[in-house]
Amino acid sequence: MSGSKLKNYFSEIITGGDIFLHAAEEVLELKKTKYQELALIQSPTFGKTLLLDNICQISEVDEFIYHELLVHTPCIFHSNPKNVLILGGGDGCALREALRWKSVENVTLVDIDEEVVNYSKTWLTDLNQNSLNHPKARIIIEDAFNFIKNSDLKWDIIICDLSDPIENSPALALFTKEFFESLTQISHPQTIISVQSGPAAPPDHFCFTRVANTLKRVFPYFKACLCFCQAYITPLAFSIVSSQPFKKLNAGEVENIIQNNLEGDLKYLDGETFLASQNLPKFLKQALEKEQVVYTLDNLPQWFNSDLNKNV
Ligand code: SAM
Repeated sequence: MSGSKLKNYFSEIITGGDIFLHAAEEVLELKKTKYQELALIQSPTFGKTLLLDNICQISEVDEFIYHELLVHTPCIFHSNPKNVLILGGGDGCALREALRWKSVENVTLVDIDEEVVNYSKTWLTDLNQNSLNHPKARIIIEDAFNFIKNSDLKWDIIICDLSDPIENSPALALFTKEFFESLTQISHPQTIISVQSGPAAPPDHFCFTRVANTLKRVFPYFKACLCFCQAYITPLAFSIVSSQPFKKLNAGEVENIIQNNLEGDLKYLDGETFLASQNLPKFLKQALEKEQVVYTLDNLPQWFNSDLNKNV
């Protein structure tokens, strides 16, 4: 467990020295699944909010920022994705965004926890627009590491929408070099991969810089983009990797890709936001350059024992 639970408040450890309390007007579900503690609450500020092991996964009010960036950034670089693989993402919101692409023929979502998927089908249909029951969607309940070992399909887009790699998380091994190497087996040269890579704030960017450094050992082309959802308290970084150079797109070209290829209107991303989100602040660029740690199965992420609160 990553935090203590108070009556009507759920505490989330943000850094080694800071806790955020998520107030719950109503607790819609509270359950220990086979893999994690699931809490679905009605927050007075953020609306329906899903916590796993007391860490906020999505909030009704600002999840669109996270999911538009995570899904559309790789898809815009690709610009004609047909098949998409989502690893994690059991809430169905990344799936909702992938299904907006007119070119997309099928999306496979692999989540380890059937109960997260089932609760999301019951409680979160207004958020995920019932994506988990969409005819183009295939939902597989399996550890993503195993799924990839046994898969010989190649994907245009792979999205790692996994819980943070905290101690005892079922996602821990999915942030390692071995796992990222296994993604090359299910990629072709045009494949673009986006990875939820954790916080990216001055006291707390080590997960991101280490995940990025690990990815760079496997994929020759790397970009990152930043998203800020207040429900997460801290900015998050997404790593975007590929075996081929990324297309150079200007704001107008991005705008055209969005207008011509997506169903419905986006709420966060446009040509300018796409480019702006990829402009990293100087401290983060320097931290990325300095980073030496590579996560492996023998050197797994250590969330709460890491260098949180050390100066950059
Ligand atoms: N937005 C998110 C965040 O902030 O971290 C991620 C959301 S999504 C709910 C994370 C999902 O990853 C969960 O549904 C969890 O069950 C899934 N997951 C964790 N470990 C996994 C694994 N080894 N294989 C497949 N799915 C996994």
